[in-house]
Amino acid sequence: MLDSEPKIDIEYVKSLTRELLAIPSIAGDCDEATQRIAREFEKYDIPVAETKKRAIVGTWRGRDDERHRLVAAHVDTLGATVRQIKPNGRLRLYPIGGFDWRAFEGENCTVRTLFGREHRGTLMPDHASRHAQTESTRDEAHDMEKMEVRLDVETSSRESTEALGIYCGDPVFFEPRMEVTAEGYVKSRFLDDKLGIAILFGAMKAMKERALPLAHTSHFYISNYEEIGHGTPVIPPKTVEFASIDIGVVAEGHTSDERAVTILARDGVTPYDRKTIRRLARLAQTNEIPFRVDTYLNYGSDASCSVKAGNDVRAVCFGPGVEATHHYERTHLDSVMASARLLTAWLADEIT
Ligand SMILES: [Zn+2]
Repeated sequence: MLDSEPKIDIEYVKSLTRELLAIPSIAGDCDEATQRIAREFEKYDIPVAETKKRAIVGTWRGRDDERHRLVAAHVDTLGATVRQIKPNGRLRLYPIGGFDWRAFEGENCTVRTLFGREHRGTLMPDHASRHAQTESTRDEAHDMEKMEVRLDVETSSRESTEALGIYCGDPVFFEPRMEVTAEGYVKSRFLDDKLGIAILFGAMKAMKERALPLAHTSHFYISNYEEIGHGTPVIPPKTVEFASIDIGVVAEGHTSDERAVTILARDGVTPYDRKTIRRLARLAQTNEIPFRVDTYLNYGSDASCSVKAGNDVRAVCFGPGVEATHHYERTHLDSVMASARLLTAWLADEIT
């Protein structure tokens, strides 16, 4: 690491991740988390605007105000909404984001009703009790049609559940289960993308502390519908480069690594901007930041979806290498550090 490089406060990134994970947020119901993040922008004297769709964008003026950058990280996570109140009083769900139901089996959750009451429950298979199984139910698939929320209240009918104030469409938030191990592994169901937001603030804090100017005015977009695919509909008109800070996918057949930052070359939506990818890779090389370049089939980011929606920007995406994405996710602090360092280097670097 060069002496002149801004220093990332990893304890700050960890504690902000933990705090954000403790505030549930899924598409359509992110306001509490968004307000908390707005206060974080205020700490750094970065003015914040709210879009009509209730996302927030912090704008930090750079040396050059003619060509802008946009950096997005999303506050919405995987989750579900109530699809049906069953005759037994339990709930069928409609997932938000792509996940394997088995990954959430047995997880505790909170149902937030339309008028603000909250009820606890657990996502269970319809036939959970091993002692009561028949041959036919023992091996049935545990999926959307065979799993239900068992509410931790006295109810055994649709009417009594409705009397709790529960409506179809009510959001269901699952436990984030964050843990940081002594070896530096970070685990949670929703590293995607609250860790990305914390990385973004880690980079901003490091640059503020060194009084290091941004090369270009930059907009920090905290999007709130990414898992649905329409995270960033508002692009400030002077934006030239658009980077999503989002998870890399550590899996068999991929180059991504839990100890490096992943730069995406292509995802399921589009190839990213080749020249900007090259510049990111060069910045990583120059600053001795461990990095990988990777491609993902079943993946879209705010940046790639924005390009697909017709916006004329140079899209890139980079972030920490995460194992078991959209399952019980894990990365390492080395990867968090590499991502934050690459972000600071890029923000200080001129658009070419
Ligand atoms: Zn994501």
